[in-house]
Amino acid sequence: MSCKINFIFALFFRFTVAIAAPPLIAIDVGHGGVDGGATSARGRPEFAFNREFAGVLAGGMRERGLGVREVNFAGDIGSLIARPERAAGSDFFISIHHDSIGEAWLKPWVWEGRELTHTEVKRGYGIFVSAQNPDPETSLRCASSIGAMLRRAGFEPSTWHGRKHLAADAENGVWYYDNLVVLYRTTLPAVLFEAGVIKHREEELELADPERQARMADALATGIAGCLFVTGKSARE
Ligand SMILES: [Zn+2]
Repeated sequence: MSCKINFIFALFFRFTVAIAAPPLIAIDVGHGGVDGGATSARGRPEFAFNREFAGVLAGGMRERGLGVREVNFAGDIGSLIARPERAAGSDFFISIHHDSIGEAWLKPWVWEGRELTHTEVKRGYGIFVSAQNPDPETSLRCASSIGAMLRRAGFEPSTWHGRKHLAADAENGVWYYDNLVVLYRTTLPAVLFEAGVIKHREEELELADPERQARMADALATGIAGCLFVTGKSARE
């Protein structure tokens, strides 16, 4: 009898532990070290924007009870392949970037005595998925969920990506980018997030605003938590 009760208790315990284990999200800070990525309208490297926003996002996810695996927060991972490797064992991978624009669309201007460039034609966020990812369904479901939460929070997707990329869910700002190493050299569902266009002078200031960063991070964390709880998927079960 007690053996049977123990067995039932063990089953129940196992069940509750499986339910209680929060998803573990790997947050990758794009660029770093010798590769600072794009340069903003005011001359600040993309890595600085990526690192700052990734920190806000990590805090927002932990507040929501999600687990966070920090990837390249120190900017010391050179190889692209090493990024998803560091994320192994997580449930989801998100790489944080800030966007630029092709040379042809840049205009010169002077900021604090420096000759720099900016754009007026492109702004807004973009979310990228790869059809070559081992779990394209979860990747796309999460990308759409993130995009929907961002739009609900008042953020607008960039339509500019439609020039080069096939739409995966254009309404929510999701595009295919099949050959991105961080999205397909992985075992995890993965998205690459471009928070906005730092070559756009007004958007650059908005992207550096802590209150706006917190709202954007909140939308991302809610979107990811929502899609992972829907799939009920955990790589660690
Ligand atoms: Zn980048």
